[in-house]
Amino acid sequence: MKRKAVKRAPAKPGASASVAPHATLARYGKPTLVALAKLGIHRAFDLVLHLPMRYDDETRLHSISNAPEGTPALVEGVVTDNAVKFRPKRQLVCTVEDASGVLVMRFLNFYMSQVKQLAPGTRVRLFGEIRQGFFGAEMVHPRYRIVREDTSVATTLTPVYPTTAGLNQANLQRMTRDALAASDLADTLPVDLLAKLRLPGFRESVNFLHHPPPVAEQPALQNRSHPAWRRVKFDELLAQQLSMRVHYDRRKTVGAPALPARQQATRQLLNRLPFKLTRAQAKALTEIQRDLEQRHPMQRLLQGDVGSGKTVVAALAALQAIENGYQVAVMAPTEILGEQHFAKFSAWLSELDIRVVWLSGNLARKDKRASLDDIASGAAHMAIGTHALFQEAVVFSKLGLAIVDEQHRFGVRQRLALRLKGAEPGSTIQPHQLMMSATPIPRTLAMSYYADLDVSVIDELPPGRSPIATRLVADTRRDEVIQRIRDACVEGSQAYWVCPLIEESEVLQLQTALDTHARLLATFPELKVGLVHGRLPAAEKRAVMHSFSRGDIQLLVATTVIEVGVDVPNATLMVIEHAERMGLAQLHQLRGRVGRGESASTCILIYQQPLSQLARERLKIVYESTDGFVIAQHDLRVRGPGELLGARQSGVPMLRYADLDADIDLLETARAVAADLLHNHPAVAQRHLERWLGGRQQYLRV
Ligand code: ADP
Ligand code: MG
Repeated sequence: MKRKAVKRAPAKPGASASVAPHATLARYGKPTLVALAKLGIHRAFDLVLHLPMRYDDETRLHSISNAPEGTPALVEGVVTDNAVKFRPKRQLVCTVEDASGVLVMRFLNFYMSQVKQLAPGTRVRLFGEIRQGFFGAEMVHPRYRIVREDTSVATTLTPVYPTTAGLNQANLQRMTRDALAASDLADTLPVDLLAKLRLPGFRESVNFLHHPPPVAEQPALQNRSHPAWRRVKFDELLAQQLSMRVHYDRRKTVGAPALPARQQATRQLLNRLPFKLTRAQAKALTEIQRDLEQRHPMQRLLQGDVGSGKTVVAALAALQAIENGYQVAVMAPTEILGEQHFAKFSAWLSELDIRVVWLSGNLARKDKRASLDDIASGAAHMAIGTHALFQEAVVFSKLGLAIVDEQHRFGVRQRLALRLKGAEPGSTIQPHQLMMSATPIPRTLAMSYYADLDVSVIDELPPGRSPIATRLVADTRRDEVIQRIRDACVEGSQAYWVCPLIEESEVLQLQTALDTHARLLATFPELKVGLVHGRLPAAEKRAVMHSFSRGDIQLLVATTVIEVGVDVPNATLMVIEHAERMGLAQLHQLRGRVGRGESASTCILIYQQPLSQLARERLKIVYESTDGFVIAQHDLRVRGPGELLGARQSGVPMLRYADLDADIDLLETARAVAADLLHNHPAVAQRHLERWLGGRQQYLRV
């Protein structure tokens, strides 16, 4: 794209604190506004940022006989015949002629007014795909307009926008034109910065993207590598970086209890553990301990592959809060995981005279009351539980640290609610927060969506683990799998059998689990076969998990409820049915349930044939790698960041234009520019944030 001369001097940094009020959408009717809202368009400026997904070329008029086939083209002619026909179906058929040839235009849906409008002698311009039909060249349902011989053709490509029911392209095109004319498109960034980054101006970029000239290179527009696209993507990434940084800095203005590392209880626990911390665990712990000493809330993500030993690090962090007289809350996403934490923390901490209580929605009323009382009086040093922990009835006497395991499984509101539990009324004191995740975050994701958090990574597994061997087995070779299970259990090991995920129906999924359990009971009369699934009452779930941990159950049939956190070191065999239906991260998590002890473990992925090419490639990744980072990187590429972030729950707006894979250079630049702007040109930063996030400043992660 040629750079046009800058039409208007960009506002000087600091000249105006914010962008002028945006043109509103107020003049459109309610149904239109509802449809626009579905597209995420709430203000006129959102239309400016609602960019075309492709373009039609209506800038070139072709003669009928020379028009390209198989791609939409613009032709023009005079109607020579026009009739409503009934064979094979009611339809309006018009013949259009130019100097070079004849074309049939066919409408299966039409109004009677169109019959009149397209009377013989009328000159029409048609846009559509020409196909060779029974009666020669024809266009079905072309876009058409009545023209005069001297009506000019479009000078720019026609944008095709993402849309929704109730909003047609013509409407969107008109509204967008209006929005472009009415909105303030002045640059938010100084010219010298743009020159340095070799990016075009904002106004010219959006005008170009909405209405590119015919010469515009379509591939560069289509694959979004055009400078105008790069400018929009840069702006988006910059807004994201700015908002993350603003949030990060703002946290430093909130107070939190300073919890000095006294190293008494922590040392006691360390001495009691049957193992030494790995180097990576020790490093993560040091980072957390340093954060806890600060007078503002820690918000740290402790990230480590399954089995890397995050729990003990969390326990040591908890002790630092407890030895300073504060309480700790540990929230887990499932009952099973919560129970396990409760068992583990209780075992580790009770000998240190630390009282740990359990709180879940399924507790008997009396037990719940007792837990609540202990939490409120301060008799309990630590409360472990599920979502129940942040419900209203829970009042902490002195919460200093909230630990959230598998953080991406919780919604923003849930995490915020837990943190507010510890906020002292009327003050800005909040507890520290430690989030844990076994889903490794690829670097680009960490740099973008997680830029507002501090991150500690446990990047090594405890020693002495034998690697997990992964086998891919076709459904037809079930017998061999059965034999493997028998062998393993005879040798004193235990095994999991994970039932297929059935996304469409929970009922069907449950039924499959019940059927599988019945079948395996019959197959293995000599073994104790247990069953655990999401619908089981909590007490039964607990009983089953206990039996499995104790070794009373040898083969555990389970739905994906065991995906997170379950830790039974004696289990060395994992069978996953219909592995092709599961996400890579999920398979990796499931596989991580074995390989926790000293003996060699195996994960058998059973797949149903035939396997699609994509499914084959995905299974190959899990087969070839046991490195969570490699798998996550691949997942990011295939499924986008939404899945890795925990769908829409992250509370951070998704990037719409920038692609973390393709635009890593822009991401890195945006990060550096964001830091510089906030430090040296806060007004510019403010204006840019205002433009991109407008009223949506509640994006902040909590
Ligand atoms: P995750 O990071 O997946 O939550 P866990 O905290 O459940 O992993 O730890 C997995 C297993 O490894 C547990 O049985 C735990 O006691 C054990 N473990 C943790 N740290 C070490 C270590 N440094 N050396 C040996 N075993 C360890
Ligand atoms: Mg864990």
